[in-house]
Amino acid sequence: MRLKLLAAAALLTLAACGKSPSPPATEGVTDAMLANPPEGEWLTVAGDHTETRFSGLDKINDKNVGELGLAWSADMDTARGQEATPLMHDGVLYVTTAWSMVKAYDARTGALKWSYDPKVPRAKLVDVCCDAVNRGVALYGDKVYVGTLDGRLVALEQKTGKVVFDKPTIPKDSHMAITGAPRIAKGMVLIGQAGAEYFSRGYVAAYDAQTGDEIWKFYTVPGDPSKPQEGKHLEAAAKTWSGDFWKRGGGGNVWDSITYDPVTNLVIFGTANAEPWNPAHRNTDGAGDSLYTASVVAVNADTGEYAWHFQETPEDRWDFDSTQQLIVRDVTIGGQQRRVVMHAPKNGFFYTLDAKTGKFISGNPFVEGINWASGLDPVTGAPKINPEAKYEVTGKPFVGFPGAVGAHSWTPMSFSPKTGLVYIPVNYTPQFYMGDPDWKPGTTGFQLGIDVSGGDIPADKAIRAATKAAMKGALVAFDPLTGKARWSVPHSTPTNGGTLSTAGNLVFQGTALGEFRAYTADTGKQLWSFGTQSGVLAAPMTYMIDGEQYIAVLVGWGGVWDVSAGKLVSTMTPNISRLMVFKLGAKGVLPAAPPSAKRVLDPPPLTGKGEQIALGGKLYANSCSVCHGASAVAGSLNPDLRHSAVLGNAEAWKKIVHDGALSANGMVAWKDQFNPDQVEAIRHYVIKRANEDKALGEH
Ligand code: CA
Repeated sequence: MRLKLLAAAALLTLAACGKSPSPPATEGVTDAMLANPPEGEWLTVAGDHTETRFSGLDKINDKNVGELGLAWSADMDTARGQEATPLMHDGVLYVTTAWSMVKAYDARTGALKWSYDPKVPRAKLVDVCCDAVNRGVALYGDKVYVGTLDGRLVALEQKTGKVVFDKPTIPKDSHMAITGAPRIAKGMVLIGQAGAEYFSRGYVAAYDAQTGDEIWKFYTVPGDPSKPQEGKHLEAAAKTWSGDFWKRGGGGNVWDSITYDPVTNLVIFGTANAEPWNPAHRNTDGAGDSLYTASVVAVNADTGEYAWHFQETPEDRWDFDSTQQLIVRDVTIGGQQRRVVMHAPKNGFFYTLDAKTGKFISGNPFVEGINWASGLDPVTGAPKINPEAKYEVTGKPFVGFPGAVGAHSWTPMSFSPKTGLVYIPVNYTPQFYMGDPDWKPGTTGFQLGIDVSGGDIPADKAIRAATKAAMKGALVAFDPLTGKARWSVPHSTPTNGGTLSTAGNLVFQGTALGEFRAYTADTGKQLWSFGTQSGVLAAPMTYMIDGEQYIAVLVGWGGVWDVSAGKLVSTMTPNISRLMVFKLGAKGVLPAAPPSAKRVLDPPPLTGKGEQIALGGKLYANSCSVCHGASAVAGSLNPDLRHSAVLGNAEAWKKIVHDGALSANGMVAWKDQFNPDQVEAIRHYVIKRANEDKALGEH
């Protein structure tokens, strides 16, 4: 009897694991087309399954790129950050904009064919660090797929934009959000979520492309250790955590890149930091590596079963997400043909891993000045961590490089098989880290476990200028075989756009300060540029119709640097969200840019007391600055509180911050996290900051 029961249980288990997707698409965009895209089409967000963002088109090349001009442009109906790469199939360009909206254009003329708005509640903004962005759609069969900021997977008809299905992928009331583009594998849609700072347990899941039903789900971090884990890999991972980490979720979210490699039949993805950042507050009974956070992980594409992992940043404490794009390539190393994964995560080291096994092959810095680790173990790839970087151990501040913005983050790199180089948009943004032993998890917003208020930038023109000058970027052409940069182009500000490389010996990149540029891929010589009026974050793509090659880029400033750093430490451009498409000989011009409006600071007099202002400063830095900007100086998207009309009105201020009077705009109630005295302390801190800046003649 017992044996029979066991056999029945085994069958049930098999049935649960054996879910298979609907038959593959035979019309429209098929698996064969995704594996080998027809010339001129751009069918996945990164151009092909292996995520190279390289195009074999060479009609536009290093000889004629100077003749490139604007063919058409289309204004977006949102003024928030734009991070998407368009896709092109059958003469139609599909793109997402902020708030997970989708638009389809005639790729030749720019005529709008349809648009879709998933109507994401604006209050969702409090669950995202880095703006209401979206990085693109997936195409399969006759459908378009988008993951929405509020966690839904929506399938639309390619022809009409009509909704086919609309299904939640996150638990109700979860703080998780989707900003990444879905990927397609064998009739399934793969999607992960953001939220490693917002009480979440990361996972990646595969959904039936026809029905939206879940086929498999892979958790990246263990759950409650007193309960059975969802797989042996999580039992192993649970040994690398301690204490009550699971109560806050653990993090490890899969918020950007997912690569399906048909050759190894693996789905390979990168995971975010552990939650909270400070390990003293997650591994409360001692240290641990917190697997599988800050790692590259591979699972079986059919079943979602664990295959391998490589942890790039063990026991992360600096927000070193490993979620960046994973390029899979066949390369010759030491005379041997190897299939490898190439990765340039936030932590500043460029990794080459074996795609079948995850084994470390090589790792070298792709930026200068890394100070959290002195290097990597040449055999294991483990970082040699600088003891001073463990701020929760030393009890002292650590000014780290890279910082949480990352030496490289989601802005896509590209790989040219012609040059063998990887073109990486890199950031030089040092960051202040300091443990907060008194930290308690809140209920709303960012959960870090650190106190960043000590990193406030004093109201001193010279210090501000020096801080701004220290924040830079570059375009680095990195040779993975030598582990060194072949060439690099400096940028005066960080968070410049993603890259596209082409067989025309070209690399395209937009800049934070509002230019779209072309460089030679072999030497980095700038050959062409176009003023975009607004900063560019997104990566360009290219397509060809009737023998004419086009280059498309979504322009629009925003994202993490705009909202968190603000204009105190970075030169800002306005947000003018617009899709721009270029071709040879075109002479299009953009509409005139709106005049920039400079507002004069006119704050109420400072009446707050020293201790109250200090408290307000700490609360502001750790909870408010992520959206309203460092030291209360906002960027170009979110309200600058120094200019707030209610700054002088304690009651009106409380109604907004404490009670949530502006929830509909994304400013939710903070009453579960802050009491009225704390809300008032924040107001006095902002009044102090506004008066300081007024005295300096700033605006
Ligand atoms: Ca993170």
